[in-house]
Amino acid sequence: MIAIDNIQQYLINKLDSISSIGEVPVAAAIELNGRVVSTAWNSRETSNSPISHAELLAIEDATRILGRWRLSDCILHTTLEPCPMCMAAAQQARLKKIIYFAKDVNRGAISLKLNLHNNDNLNHKIEVEYSENELASKKLKAFFHPRRSK
Ligand SMILES: [Zn+2]
Repeated sequence: MIAIDNIQQYLINKLDSISSIGEVPVAAAIELNGRVVSTAWNSRETSNSPISHAELLAIEDATRILGRWRLSDCILHTTLEPCPMCMAAAQQARLKKIIYFAKDVNRGAISLKLNLHNNDNLNHKIEVEYSENELASKKLKAFFHPRRSK
């Protein structure tokens, strides 16, 4: 069991092994009342699936483990700002909150100002918190530009 105060570090520590198998390094976890319910990482290449994002897989695992689709008491921790697909999934799962450690200015649902997490026309709003961790974005950059990172 992972102590919740270490969840950010736990997910950051996973990024190197995700990169080493050729996957874009993104890791996510679902927290419920200070307990980690599920953890997952991006496995788009391994599973040949465009929807195998860390956040989506963590949500799926959490619903299976908890035996319910509504996660309105759960928090999603993710090393990268969620894309629109994952933000929509978080909306569908009624997540309480999302904490992300790096911004994705080109593909992130919040950066793109899609307003999926806080839209008056949708029936559920999700609190979002940017908890910056330099390593989350550094490890992504190192994955895409291995030579320049050295
Ligand atoms: Zn995504």
